Amino acid sequence: MKIEDILSQERRARMAAERLLAQKQAELSDANRMLSQHALSLSDEITETREVVKEIKGENSQVRADLEKANKEVVIAKRRLWDSLETIEDGFAVFDQTDRMIAANSAYLKPFDGLGCVAPGIQYVDILNIVIEEGIVDIGDLRPLAWRDTMLDRWYAPRRDPLNLRLWDGTHIQLVDRRSRDGDMVCLGLNITETVTYQTELKEARIRAEAANRAKSAFLANMSHEIRTPMNGVVSMAELMAEGDLDEEQRLYVDTIRKSGEALLTIINDVLDYSKIEAAKLTLHPEPFDLEKTILDVITILQPTVQEKGIQLSIDFDLFMPSGFMGDPIRLRQILTNLIGNAVKFTSEGHVLVRAIGIPGVKNEDYRVLISVEDSGIGIPKQMQAHIFGEFNQVEDEQNRRYEGTGLGLSIARQLVELMDGEIWLESKEGVGSCFGFNIALPALEQVVEPALPDNPGKAILALSDGLNKSILERRLKALGFVVETTTGTAELLKKCADAKVVFVDEALCAIGSPDEDPLRALRSAHPDIELILLTPPQKREADCSCVAIASHILHTPVLRNILFETLSSLNSYAQTTEDMEADAHPPQFEEPLTPNQNRLMRILAAEDNKTNRLVFSKLVKSLNIDLRFANNGLEAVEAFLDFKPDLIFMDISMPEVDGKEATRRIRLLEQDQGLPRTRIVALTAHAMPGDAEEILSHGLDKHLTKPLRKSAIFEEILRNCPQEAISPQDEV
Ligand code: ADP
Repeated sequence: MKIEDILSQERRARMAAERLLAQKQAELSDANRMLSQHALSLSDEITETREVVKEIKGENSQVRADLEKANKEVVIAKRRLWDSLETIEDGFAVFDQTDRMIAANSAYLKPFDGLGCVAPGIQYVDILNIVIEEGIVDIGDLRPLAWRDTMLDRWYAPRRDPLNLRLWDGTHIQLVDRRSRDGDMVCLGLNITETVTYQTELKEARIRAEAANRAKSAFLANMSHEIRTPMNGVVSMAELMAEGDLDEEQRLYVDTIRKSGEALLTIINDVLDYSKIEAAKLTLHPEPFDLEKTILDVITILQPTVQEKGIQLSIDFDLFMPSGFMGDPIRLRQILTNLIGNAVKFTSEGHVLVRAIGIPGVKNEDYRVLISVEDSGIGIPKQMQAHIFGEFNQVEDEQNRRYEGTGLGLSIARQLVELMDGEIWLESKEGVGSCFGFNIALPALEQVVEPALPDNPGKAILALSDGLNKSILERRLKALGFVVETTTGTAELLKKCADAKVVFVDEALCAIGSPDEDPLRALRSAHPDIELILLTPPQKREADCSCVAIASHILHTPVLRNILFETLSSLNSYAQTTEDMEADAHPPQFEEPLTPNQNRLMRILAAEDNKTNRLVFSKLVKSLNIDLRFANNGLEAVEAFLDFKPDLIFMDISMPEVDGKEATRRIRLLEQDQGLPRTRIVALTAHAMPGDAEEILSHGLDKHLTKPLRKSAIFEEILRNCPQEAISPQDEV
């Protein structure tokens, strides 16, 4: 190769190397530039990181300080919690899910005093084993293993009721154990020793109080017997004396004796009833009864006082409400006597109005009966009204005790109404009057049957002096469609009768004038077709009414709605209508004619050991045509039963030797042995305590009458039970 070629080759190589160098230098400077940029950002980052590290360092020390503080607080809280748990006298422990004790306070561990093994870490079942081995708990009649199983069953049950345990030293503990959400069992052992001791003391005190109450009731029963027996003599004898010939002064004395005796008996009854209710021993005895008659009976008894005071007592009995109900008539009568009696007592002028309304229930026979007693008396101040149904509450004025009373009546009435599933209330304005009302639930026995009368039955005349009977009759007759006129004078009566269909007359009118100028006879001869209905007082016998022959009917006052309806339906004037109406409903029925062999007197045996009571009894039935024999004790009664063969026996209960209950048992046995028919035996007692009647009847007696004996009750028994073959006791003696 030529030298120039070599040189140009070298030049070209040098130039290429120079170009490469320049390129590399440029790359190097780029790299340097990037390096310095990277170094710059690195140093920035380092600065930032340094700052962050600095910050974190600060935070860390804060966290450490907080942690230290929190730790301290936890320690304090834990110490406080344990101090508290240690301070309470009740036991506290916690078990984990595997039934291992985690913690327990000293009270929990106390029963295991000295047993170091009972400490955190122990299993629940081991605690139970130790309890059995050491006899720590009184396990009663259970065998130890059975007791442990019961405790374990309880421990694993989904729900645990608190359990009371008695420890060996007499301490009573109540275990309350509850499982927490994470499965731990939190246990409390409450020391209930004081509560149990208190409860035991209370129980003993209650037993003592109940015993004292029973003793008081027994004392009251005895007292009632002791007081009622002589009172029987006093009241009955006074009643008999009043029937005889007395001058005015003597009658006053006798009436006072009778009234005082009856007042005393009312007080005794109030006190007895109150004590019965107080001892929750008063029960109701439902039986079929006539509500209207019950109200009228109460009103009749109060009539003499009403007349004496010159006030008006009236009754408004819902025409569309039945009067036959199922209930306790004696207790209802007691409520009515109290409310109506109070109304009369606290009213000196104006009126007392008794209203009875029936609201049929869902089933038609269930009635809610609402009775209100309204008066125009002294009224009750507002501030007293809320307390008036409490016991011993009386509104006293400055004259204090102007009115007699025990202050128990309304409290008894309230409690009786509540027993009858009802409510009692009061509205009153001082100086204007009061209205006491109550409602009770009563099932009706039958629905009202109205008399079969034509649409316009005609004119009815009321010649009645008694305002109450007049107003009751007037309202009823008007409701039945009658045109009603009232009259008092006899001349006016004769005139008004010209176009009347029915005349209601007081029996007292018979007594006016001689037979020739008797207004009723005159009326009968002037109007032979008129229906003449005679109203007589309850106790008067038909045979004793001088004008019985000229009357179409004789009714006792107050006239019950059913009786009035029946009487009106049977009057000749309406007979056609009634027959027509009834013929469709009922085919005619023929009754067997009665041909009794009436040739002997009704035989009545009265067993009574007390001479006064025997005398009272014989006087009470003196007007009856009966064959009466007495037995002085139970033994004589049994003998007389065999040889006298009584139709009816009145049996005193408390008699020496053989008492009335035993005598009845013996008579019932004789009847069984000898195949004799059952003779009705009526108990006569002075007992009036709860359960007495039931107890007496359980010995085979049929009825229970309390003393003092009431003529009407004795008469009712005798007349009802007279056998067909005997002469009626009311026939002429
Ligand atoms: P008491 O035997 O005293 O009549 P009650 O419990 O029957 O006892 O009545 C309590 C009191 O309520 C009566 O003493 C009387 O002050 C008042 N009271 C009751 N009924 C009436 C009434 N109709 N008018 C005014 N005050 C009455």
